[in-house]
Amino acid sequence: MDIRQNMTVAEKLEILADAAKYDVACTSSGNDRAAVKGAMGSAAAAGICHAFSGDGRCISLLKILMTNQCVYDCKYCVNRRSNDIPRAAFTPEEICMLTMEFYKRNYIEGLFLSSGVILSPNHTMELMYEVLYLLRKKHHFMGYIHVKGIPGADPVLLEKTGFLADRMSVNLELPTKEGLALLAPAKKEENILGPMRHIQAGIHGNAHYGKSAYQTTRIRMGQTEDVNVLWQNAVPKEMPAKKPDRTAEGSGTREGPPFLTGSPAGSLSSAAGKTLWLPGRMHEEDRNWMANGKLSDYVPAGQSTQMIIGASKETDYQIIRKAELLYRSYDLKRVFYSAFINTTHDSMLPELPGGPPLIREHRLYQADFLMRYYGFYAGEILSPSFPDLDPQMDPKCTWALRHMERFPVEVMKADYGTLLRVPGIGPKAAERIVRARRTDHLSFDALKRMGVVLKRAHYFILCCGKQMFRLKIEAGFIARELLAMDREKNWKAAHQAQYSQMDLFTDFGLAAGKYR
Ligand code: SF4
Repeated sequence: MDIRQNMTVAEKLEILADAAKYDVACTSSGNDRAAVKGAMGSAAAAGICHAFSGDGRCISLLKILMTNQCVYDCKYCVNRRSNDIPRAAFTPEEICMLTMEFYKRNYIEGLFLSSGVILSPNHTMELMYEVLYLLRKKHHFMGYIHVKGIPGADPVLLEKTGFLADRMSVNLELPTKEGLALLAPAKKEENILGPMRHIQAGIHGNAHYGKSAYQTTRIRMGQTEDVNVLWQNAVPKEMPAKKPDRTAEGSGTREGPPFLTGSPAGSLSSAAGKTLWLPGRMHEEDRNWMANGKLSDYVPAGQSTQMIIGASKETDYQIIRKAELLYRSYDLKRVFYSAFINTTHDSMLPELPGGPPLIREHRLYQADFLMRYYGFYAGEILSPSFPDLDPQMDPKCTWALRHMERFPVEVMKADYGTLLRVPGIGPKAAERIVRARRTDHLSFDALKRMGVVLKRAHYFILCCGKQMFRLKIEAGFIARELLAMDREKNWKAAHQAQYSQMDLFTDFGLAAGKYR
């Protein structure tokens, strides 16, 4: 491994900010901790002006890896052990310095911290915890922090980190066990879902619990079965946890916050001597901080994950079924889909001569939206006999064209859920229609005045029994019209330049060597 010595912080930043760009699981929504006297930054929604790209990527966090060294050799990953690339590692203090300095200069509003696995999952998680500990408690940083949970790390470390973070994410990477076995044999699905369950259980007592878009939509639409599943899964249980493996880590000799050098504070032992996980348990110090308004709660912005699309052979149906499981049973705030970029050219990976499958990624985000905001189930969007999303048409239109027996819909009578199924009508428009028709007969002009976009919707609705134009209500005809309408948009989605994140050196003109 090419581990560079004596690098400046700027040189490390160049390597580790670039290495982080393949991780898309970051947004900053969902937390509104306000500024506090004597501390730096805030996570209030109004105080954060993040920019999001079309598919939801956040581009204004300082997004870095703590290190791109890794003991694992996942075939799809640029940081895999066997890849011959320059390696670097920040110390926790260096990350704190960068975050504070960039925050003061208004370059960033928060930190997104991920890492390769250095020595062991516990050692890596301890270092990441140390970053958060120093940022929050030494530098009094109140801004947004999204941190990765390292699969296989001790639950006590995840818990302690969760009280300092706003959002946590554990990347699933590949949607099936088979995909993981093939491309990331050192990773086991249970080692990824386990930490997700721990974080979910920790959030259980949180006021934000169950407030993901997926759950809110289900409640709004009376789909209570899903909400019950969630609550059953989240009932706090005593979960056996592995004891931290500290032998190989040298954590007893490394300097750091006192509780990192001995047995973790608050780790509990049962009569049988097993370490027990008590979700949401709070440490004295954290409780005091919360009382002073300097911490809001345990992972208050929820958890998210990322799946790589196109590195393994899963169908779109398998992918959205997995996403549905994560929303339904693990209360994830977001699942991110990352079109696979072949950086390692391993023989087990597809070469993708046409570039990363961007249109597929785009369609998966659209299907994800249908599940989170429109009350669709994965099994309605796709099925084993119809396993992949149509690259030419968005999944809501595809669904509507396959269910023409449900259309046209009379806007004066259709319930909220039925209106949401009309292509072109979103949750806001559906709500406005339901409210306005209590007092008015709605015409197409009235819908336009209310801001309802009729470009697609007019093929599928009637206002007081009338069509907007006298048109055939026939799937083939409407499909041709919709395809013509979306041709340019589809082309752009398929040919967009490979995404790039803002570059601190180019976009902010940082000079190498400035942060030594
Ligand atoms: S564990 Fe993470 S960083 Fe390491 S090789 Fe696998 S995907 Fe890459």
